[in-house]
Amino acid sequence: MAAPAPRRSRAALLAVLGGLAAWGGSRAFLFGGSDPEPGSPEAIERVKGLLLKADAVFFDVDSTVVKTEGIDLMGKCFGVMKEIAALTHKAMDGNVKFQDAMADRLQLMADHGMTRDGLEECVVKEGVPQWSPGVQEVVKMFHKQGTEVYLVSGGFKNMLYPLALELHIPQDKVYANEVLFDENGEYAGFDRKNPTAASGGKPKVLNMMRRKHGYKTMIMFGDGATDMDARTQGPAAAFVGYGGVTVRPNIKAGADWFIQNFQEILDVLPKGHAL
Ligand SMILES: [Mg+2]
Repeated sequence: MAAPAPRRSRAALLAVLGGLAAWGGSRAFLFGGSDPEPGSPEAIERVKGLLLKADAVFFDVDSTVVKTEGIDLMGKCFGVMKEIAALTHKAMDGNVKFQDAMADRLQLMADHGMTRDGLEECVVKEGVPQWSPGVQEVVKMFHKQGTEVYLVSGGFKNMLYPLALELHIPQDKVYANEVLFDENGEYAGFDRKNPTAASGGKPKVLNMMRRKHGYKTMIMFGDGATDMDARTQGPAAAFVGYGGVTVRPNIKAGADWFIQNFQEILDVLPKGHAL
């Protein structure tokens, strides 16, 4: 005779679970915070406010600051661009361990003549930046408002230093990987101790910088999943997804604010603010 009651409670339970499932999609529920739904007008307004008070902003480089992928350019220098690009895309889709993908790609280039001299020549030949439109102005405006600007990349310092120089970002604010060579200038692996040499490298760098400088508001910009990690698995207050080169559905859906053009950021930052 107790049958109707459990049926009713089961229905009630299902209703509650259904509600939880619907709710579970929101970051507010998952992370227990009060941040608005990624991409919502409230989330975008929140990011705009944070951009004006950020202590530090962190830019991914490949397909964000520049339209290119540094390692593909290196591949081009050594005649293995197609093979390298295929490995890069495999790594981006998250199917390969980051370290393994990097070791494979570097070894492939070493097998095709990547020595210290060869890499230096490559940087000169392919290192001319193909900027994403507006990014140089964005960096300039952040500098003007007193926000520190960092480059954080899974790419290589050799390819990034010329970009950093043009953006007036000092080398100690460039976090990226390092190719190693032996005393004869032959390829000798890469620096595996580097935070960016492993999965989860970007959140790690942001955590390091927060500890070192006591930053309260940090914002990450990027086009890929490893960039969004700085927000979901790290201390970034916001993640701005950039789709000006490649639009990735997971980034478009998960970014607090997904932009197609850096002009959208310039429209928020104060113009002509004196130093
Ligand atoms: Mg990228």
